[in-house]
Amino acid sequence: MSFKNLGLRAELVAAVTAKGYTKPTPIQAQAIPPILAGRDLLGGSQTGTGKTAAFTLPMLQILAEQQGDTSRGKHVRKAPRALVLTPTRELAAQVGESVETYGAGLNLKSTIVFGGVGINPQINKLRAGVDIVIATPGRLLDHASQRTVDLSRIEFLILDEADRMLDMGFIHDIRKILKLLPARRQNLLFSATYSNEIKQLSDGILHDPELIEVARRNTAAEKVTQVVHPVAKADKRSMLSHLIRTGNWSQVLVFTRTKHGANRLTKQLDSDGITASAIHGNKSQNARTQALADFKTGRVRVLVATDVASRGLDISLLPHVVNFELPNVPEDYVHRIGRTGRAGEEGAAHSLVSLDERGLLRDIEKVLGRSIPVQDIEGFKTNAADGNEDARVRPTRSGGGGRGQSSGRGSSSRSSGGRSESGSSRPAGSTAPANRRSSPFRRRSRTRRATSSTSS
Ligand code: AMP
Repeated sequence: MSFKNLGLRAELVAAVTAKGYTKPTPIQAQAIPPILAGRDLLGGSQTGTGKTAAFTLPMLQILAEQQGDTSRGKHVRKAPRALVLTPTRELAAQVGESVETYGAGLNLKSTIVFGGVGINPQINKLRAGVDIVIATPGRLLDHASQRTVDLSRIEFLILDEADRMLDMGFIHDIRKILKLLPARRQNLLFSATYSNEIKQLSDGILHDPELIEVARRNTAAEKVTQVVHPVAKADKRSMLSHLIRTGNWSQVLVFTRTKHGANRLTKQLDSDGITASAIHGNKSQNARTQALADFKTGRVRVLVATDVASRGLDISLLPHVVNFELPNVPEDYVHRIGRTGRAGEEGAAHSLVSLDERGLLRDIEKVLGRSIPVQDIEGFKTNAADGNEDARVRPTRSGGGGRGQSSGRGSSSRSSGGRSESGSSRPAGSTAPANRRSSPFRRRSRTRRATSSTSS
């Protein structure tokens, strides 16, 4: 199978060839023909599968072909014809980059619209006329209310990482945006997970969609080696430094549950002599872009991120992902480890798990449909005192079991009574012998008893 066989025009084939892609990924092979045929599409797809090109290439082709039709005159040029909605600025920027790269040989204009940066340059670009807008929902609505964008001529709507948009509470914004679009249009919806909310959303938007699923729903990328390292909560940071040093890891993406935790860990790693940057929602767009660029070029060894900030990060060949804390929402684990092993590369996901996180681990294993192997690290062991609390009942997720934690509040990260996390209480490797087969984890994951407190 080649890109040409998929029916793509020469300019697009040339663009992907220039990128070094020799053949379409499975999602590209499956999605491109029906999109070119004008079908709506529901894509169940993990990050790292090549889904951006899977929707961008046929979208560009359709727009370029219809451009030849002059019957609609100059007016068409003025208002955008395609809208890509993404949950985060980073993903918008990355999709925007792909649109530019793949569309280099076509006469189509695109622009990116997201918050956190000045609105005027966006207004100027929109006024000049664009064919494609890639936007986060909030800022797009700002433009719509200021009438600096006209969405009445959108022919092509793409919801990228729709599950994350719902997680982030964008459903109302999405509904408002939908009302501004013409009824007749082609719709594509991509989501790594498939919840009832996603089903509801897609039922309302998609007409007779082609269903495509490249990785089984809610399963982790296959090429990712996953492992759990049992550890005392207070020793996580020294374990992380230890793993990075002894494994000689040069590029590590580390997830924390909170922005505050991300900042603190970054400082601690730096003081351990390991270069690190944090990326989260409180950082300015410039700081986020800089941190990402430093990480990609190897200027910093560790990027510490919250779940929200991590969405859409495309860092190819990322070898190591570390869950410094397990996420409250099990599906976030799947998203997190989707950052490694991208586009067929191998990767490793390490989770540092303290006893209070056993419940979270069980929830994740339930979503994965299997248990994650446990590997003890010599010199580290769990602390029974951590087990007195359950990380799942921490107050990070506001009200009614909604999935919208946006990296939580600082208050949630360290609720262990009286435990100080200000520094490592003892150096790695200096204490008790390895806690072989840390039984609490092993036993729990084997028994895999369903807990009634989690939703399915
Ligand atoms: P995505 O899932 O769209 O975020 O893409 C993940 C990564 O795969 C990106 O770094 C792309 O540049 C890369 N990629 C996309 N399509 C292909 C392809 N056909 N062959 C090789 N790499 C690809």
